[in-house]
Amino acid sequence: MPDHRKIVLNQMRPLIHKRDGNRCVYCGRGGLLVLDHDLPRSRGGLDVAENLITACTECNSSKGAKTGEEYREWRRERGLASP
Ligand SMILES: [Zn+2]
Repeated sequence: MPDHRKIVLNQMRPLIHKRDGNRCVYCGRGGLLVLDHDLPRSRGGLDVAENLITACTECNSSKGAKTGEEYREWRRERGLASP
């Protein structure tokens, strides 16, 4: 990833986490959190606040290339808890 992009994301990270209450938006857990793209970058999602959300590492890796809505549906189908 280009350094410029990394710098921008690192600057946005605390703001996005704070906006989301320092919890994973999908499962509600705190702890180790990462920035996730609602619309994945592989599907044209941008590095803008509106498309960035707080996720735990587990949800982030399970979500893969799904959109946030697709991943919520995926969790519902498996009976996984949501906040
Ligand atoms: Zn989670």
